[in-house]
Amino acid sequence: MAKEEKYLHICEVCGKEEYLTEKEAYEQGWDYPPYIGTYGVLSPRTCPGCTIDNTAWFDYMKHHSFAQLSEKHRETVRRILGEPDNLIFLKDKKGKKKNGT
Ligand SMILES: [Zn+2]
Repeated sequence: MAKEEKYLHICEVCGKEEYLTEKEAYEQGWDYPPYIGTYGVLSPRTCPGCTIDNTAWFDYMKHHSFAQLSEKHRETVRRILGEPDNLIFLKDKKGKKKNGT
């Protein structure tokens, strides 16, 4: 992913979404790859206002089983496994300019 490219950051706890560069996200306190964690590898994906104890990662560390995760956490795991391609895809879909404005 290009250094200066803004891509979608989704807080898995509160659902907050922001388009940020890797550096902006890190400076604002997001727990997000590539500074915190690795794309495609399960770890917390949180905004600056949320803590990790409600993340899919934390839940998985407790149970060591995907079968015991809630549907919300399973959805997070699926999204993480699709990174970084799905983050770019979401941006392309949402970030299109409108004609005639
Ligand atoms: Zn949050």
